Amino acid sequence: MAKLGNNMVSLYGVYDYGGYDKEYEVVICGGGTSGVAAAIACARTGAKVLLIERTGQLGGQMSLSGPPGFAYAHCFNAKGQKDTAGIVEETHARLYKQGHALPHLRPKHRLLGGYTFSYVDPEWWTLEIFDMMEENGVTLLLDSLVVDVTKDGDKATGVVVENANGRVTIPAKIVIDCTGEAYASKFAGCETVETDRDIIQPHSICFTADGVDWDKLLRYINNNPEQFTWDQLACLNPDVVTKDLVMAVYKKCIDIKELGEVMGFFDLRQVALENGDWHPNSGAGFFLQPKEGGRILAHFQHSSQVDHALPSDAWDLTRCNIECRKQIRIAWRFFKNYVPGFENAYITRIGSELRLREGARIVGDYVLNMEDVRNEARFEDGIGLSNFPAGAHHSTNEKTLAVVNDHDADDEEYGGAQNQSEFAACKNQGSYAIPYRVLVPKKVENFLVAGKCVSTDRSAYLRYLQQTMVTGQAAGVAAGLCVKHNITPRELEKDTTELREILLSQGAILSLPDDK
Ligand SMILES: Cc1cc2nc3c(=O)[nH]c(=O)nc-3n(C[C@H](O)[C@H](O)[C@H](O)COP(=O)(O)OP(=O)(O)OC[C@H]3O[C@@H](n4cnc5c(N)ncnc54)[C@H](O)[C@@H]3O)c2cc1C
Repeated sequence: MAKLGNNMVSLYGVYDYGGYDKEYEVVICGGGTSGVAAAIACARTGAKVLLIERTGQLGGQMSLSGPPGFAYAHCFNAKGQKDTAGIVEETHARLYKQGHALPHLRPKHRLLGGYTFSYVDPEWWTLEIFDMMEENGVTLLLDSLVVDVTKDGDKATGVVVENANGRVTIPAKIVIDCTGEAYASKFAGCETVETDRDIIQPHSICFTADGVDWDKLLRYINNNPEQFTWDQLACLNPDVVTKDLVMAVYKKCIDIKELGEVMGFFDLRQVALENGDWHPNSGAGFFLQPKEGGRILAHFQHSSQVDHALPSDAWDLTRCNIECRKQIRIAWRFFKNYVPGFENAYITRIGSELRLREGARIVGDYVLNMEDVRNEARFEDGIGLSNFPAGAHHSTNEKTLAVVNDHDADDEEYGGAQNQSEFAACKNQGSYAIPYRVLVPKKVENFLVAGKCVSTDRSAYLRYLQQTMVTGQAAGVAAGLCVKHNITPRELEKDTTELREILLSQGAILSLPDDK
């Protein structure tokens, strides 16, 4: 293989492998779902983009730490309107065409519950994303940790990375923080907020299993519908999605994909708890992961949960890592020994990293809040939509899912899974907009934030994959426009017409048919 400066002639043609002597206009810190969406969208505006990632992998929590159980979910609101597209839809469509995604799954009980699934195979998602980086001319710097942000007064001027080359400074006109935990924002001196250790949502290590006898499991579900959850689906549209409706689905289901997730096993879990074969830190259940040829794997992302741990404290993270692995061993014993269909199943992958649910959020020029979600807010500078309810938090108890701001919430009507006073769903089963200003941190210039650390209150936290890609895509386009017009991200707030036009041209959804 001949070497031509930084352009290596490889088996795959000439590829720009970057180099510290080149100039990049936009530097993106972190290659998770938000970072890759930002990079693709920014490069499409014509800007020279460098994406810096701590590991050798792209996708962040989507691919690194045990793939998520519902990638993607919630792309349709409870009225059945599609409110999320752009790079989310583009990646889904590409993978679906290749047989690495399931179609948008919208059975009645899930559609009306605002809880649809559009499953992608995370392994192939990652391969596809690497291709998209190349197609769009994004330069990658992998295995490199951003350790500082350089500044001139209040303006970010670049980043400092540590990697195999040592410590290197990389200048940039605009820096985007997509690290998930707001690391770069903290280096830049942005104001951030963190939830207290007392109430922060638990963190998990995910694992995936193959070899499940789905027919046998389905027979158990058909015969024991009361053993499974229904409340999450009912909470957005309780008049239509009743317990009876969900139970009828469990009774008749002949295809596990129709369910999307299987949570409950209440009596089995109780017996196992008494026998020491389950731990008290979560409910029992799993999600699905599509594989080639129509094969389905079971994906477990709540079976280990450790709370009272701050992502900003390495000792807390160490404890989580140790305890999650102990819980996985216990949880798997339960599934193998108690759950019909799992007798010959086997674990295919355990995430190498913790998945962190709740972390720091920046304080931006707008703080998206619970009332915005409840009222289906619209903003002139809206850069995308979402329908995920506010205040849906995890807890380390048997309810596991969607307990709201209160680990002891126990609302009988909703099977204990919702505390209505703290829970805000869109009031008309619609969607709410996300304003551009949540990406712009106060006080620091030439700096944008995307992904789960954008500016929201705790309840309106935008941490779901599709939301991180919506904010990522918008931050990428915004950074490209700032470079093009030589303005700061804050100056762009004055007129976001061009930003919105480009997002629309990139397939984003900014309004719904019934918007005035
Ligand atoms: C257990 C669990 C299950 C979940 N399940 C789902 C689900 O089913 N569906 C769903 O939609 N969402 C789910 N989520 C939420 C979702 O997966 C994450 O919130 C989302 O992936 C975050 O995306 P992000 O781009 O903001 O950050 P991340 O995915 O965390 O990406 C951050 C990236 O930045 C890199 N990085 C960090 N620091 C640095 C640095 N200093 N220098 C360079 N690179 C750095 C990291 O290596 C990583 O690649 C789940 C979360 C958890 C914890």
